[in-house]
Amino acid sequence: MANDQLVAQDKVVLIHYTLKNGDGEVLDSSLDTDPMPYLHGAGNIVPGLERQLEGKSVGDKFIAEVPPEEGYGLAEGPGPQALPRNTFPPNVDIEEGMAFMAQGPSGQPIPLWVTAIDDEQVYVDTNHPLAGETLFFDVEIVRIREANSDELNHGHPHGLDGTEGHHH
Ligand code: ZN
Repeated sequence: MANDQLVAQDKVVLIHYTLKNGDGEVLDSSLDTDPMPYLHGAGNIVPGLERQLEGKSVGDKFIAEVPPEEGYGLAEGPGPQALPRNTFPPNVDIEEGMAFMAQGPSGQPIPLWVTAIDDEQVYVDTNHPLAGETLFFDVEIVRIREANSDELNHGHPHGLDGTEGHHH
């Protein structure tokens, strides 16, 4: 079926990508490793990139420009907040750029990103490090395949061929 070759809901799509910011700096790339598999329509990747991949075929190469609203969101809120270092378990290695879940006032999970660390304080922000950035994805579609039932149930691909085991 010719349709098998188009990016659509519930297909596993393997892409090579290079992500750049508006200054042309490379932030991330798959080119040194295997292509990245994702399950189309499951929100595995930022919405603006997923939308622009829809209907594409194997071999297509394009640049997807993704505004913050369809990427990692606008930069909002008061900016980085300092938390005492001893708020964190001593055995946890805290690094700039890492994310963790905190609990909001009514117990809801709030993602926080570490923006800086010193001896006494850890600075955290509710914004993703790429919030407010327009993203430029240089994309090539390497392969499109059917998702298996486990992948559809889990909402993400299990490796390049759908056979990779993992724990949740
Ligand atoms: Zn899974």
